[in-house]
Amino acid sequence: MISVFELFKVGVGPSSSHTVGPMIAAYRFAQEVTEQPEIARCCTRIRIELFGSLALTGLGHATDTAIFCGLAGCLPDRTEPHILQQTVESLRANQCIELAGKKSIPFDEKRDLIWLRNETLPAHPNAIQFSVLDTHNHVLFSKRYYSTGGGFVYDEKELASLRESLSKTSNDTPQAEPFPFTTAAELIQMARESNCRIDQIIDGNEQVHRSPDAIAEQLDRLWAVMAACIDRGCMSPGILPGSLHIRRRAPGIYQKLTGGTSLIPSQWLEQHAQEKLKDPLQQLDWVSLFALAVNEENAAGGQVVTAPTNGAAGVIPAVLGYYVYLVPDPGHPDFDRTISDREGVHRFLKTAGAIGMLYKRNASLSAAEMGCQGEVGVACSMAAAGLAACMGGTIDQIENAAEIGMEHNLGLTCDPIAGLVQVPCIERNTMGATKAINAARLAVLYGDGKHFVSLDRVIETMRQTGVDMQSKYKETSLGGLAVNVVDC
Ligand code: SF4
Repeated sequence: MISVFELFKVGVGPSSSHTVGPMIAAYRFAQEVTEQPEIARCCTRIRIELFGSLALTGLGHATDTAIFCGLAGCLPDRTEPHILQQTVESLRANQCIELAGKKSIPFDEKRDLIWLRNETLPAHPNAIQFSVLDTHNHVLFSKRYYSTGGGFVYDEKELASLRESLSKTSNDTPQAEPFPFTTAAELIQMARESNCRIDQIIDGNEQVHRSPDAIAEQLDRLWAVMAACIDRGCMSPGILPGSLHIRRRAPGIYQKLTGGTSLIPSQWLEQHAQEKLKDPLQQLDWVSLFALAVNEENAAGGQVVTAPTNGAAGVIPAVLGYYVYLVPDPGHPDFDRTISDREGVHRFLKTAGAIGMLYKRNASLSAAEMGCQGEVGVACSMAAAGLAACMGGTIDQIENAAEIGMEHNLGLTCDPIAGLVQVPCIERNTMGATKAINAARLAVLYGDGKHFVSLDRVIETMRQTGVDMQSKYKETSLGGLAVNVVDC
C-alpha cells in the first residue's frame, strides 16, 4: 500500500515530476556511487542524459538545478530553498560536483548534461540516465531512473516490479496493512464492513508503520508547511523567475481583500473572524487567493507540500484553508463540528490521501502520461473528498464528491507556456479548489450518496483519456497554450 506520507510530502517548486523526482533520483545515484569505493575512487566524470518530457520541459521546470542539488546530497524535504540555490551557484562557479558531499568531480555542464528532446524511453516519458566514467571515458557505473509523477521515483527494476504488483489484486499478495484496497469499491466495502470512516481505514494502515502520535505530528507538519506557504505567497510581491516575467498576484489580492494590512494571512484571518463573512462570495476570493499564493511560491522554487504534485500543490491547501480559516467555528450546520480544526485537518488529509492512492494505483499522477487531469484533476478530486469528510459526509457522499471532482476535469491537457509551471498552472489551481468545494457541497448538502458514475469508473475513464491524449498535450509544451501564446 502507498502511504499517505508518500502522497503528501514536503518538496520544492516548481514540479514534482521534473524537480522533486529528479533531485531524489540524483541523490540516490550519488549515494550508490559513493557506497562503492572502487567506483568512487576511479570516477572522474559524470554524465546525465534526460529523455522525453524531462528533456522537453526540464529547463523551465528547474530539472537541471534539481539534479545538481541531488547529486550534491540534497533532498527536497530536508533542504531549505536558499541552500539549494547556494549549492547550484557554487557548482556552476567551480564547475565541480561534490558527489553526495564526499567526492569532487569536475563538471562540464554543456558537455555532460544532455537534453535528448527527440528520444522517449518506452517505460515512461520521464527518464534520466546517470553514468560515471573514468579518465579513459569508460563507463564505470550507470543507472536509469523514472520520475513517474508526484515525486515518485523508481529505477528500472523497481518500476518493473511495481508494474507486476499492479497487475495483481490485493487478494493475490499478502499485505502488511489491515485494510489493503486497490479500488474505491473495495475501500467502501471495507469501511462498511468494519464500520469505519475512510480516514480511520487509512489510520489503521498507517499505524502498521508509525505510532498514532507520529502520524498526528506528520499531519500537523504538512498543514503547517501549507499554511506557511500561503502566508509567504501573500507577502512576497515581485516577478516570477523565467522568461514570461509574470507578476505575482497574491500579494495585491491579499491587500485588496483586507483593505491593507501588514499582518500575515493566518494572523489577519484569526483577528477578523466577522469581516470575512460579510460577503459570502468573498470566501471564493479567499480560496482563490490561497491557491494563487501557494502556486506562485511553487513557481518561484519555494517550499510546498507536493499534494499530490507540485503543479497542483495549491488546490488542497486552498480548500483546507477554506475549512480552517473561513468556516465559522463552532457549530456551523454544514460541518461536523464535533471535531476540532486539528482533527478536521487530519481527517481531511487522510481521506484525500485515500483517494489519491486510488489514482496513483489505477491511473497515474504524471502529467507526462495523463495531462493536467492527472494533476489538478486529481487534486480537485482529493480535496473534494477531504472536505466532504469534514462536512460529516457518509462514505457514499465522500465517494460522490471525489467522483464529481474528477468528472469535470476529464480531458484537461497540460500545455505550460515556455515550459514554466506558471501559465495556465497557477490560475488553474484556483479553479480546481473552487470546483472541489462545489463538488463537496453538491455531494453532502444536496445529495444522499446515490450517484450514477462510480469513482472507479471515472478513474478508469481518466486513465483511458490520458492514454488517448496526444503527447503534445502531455507536459511537452508542444501544443495548446504553449504554442498559441508565444513567449517572445
Ligand atoms: S498545466 Fe497542469 S499538469 Fe501541466 S505543468 Fe501546469 S499544473 Fe502541471
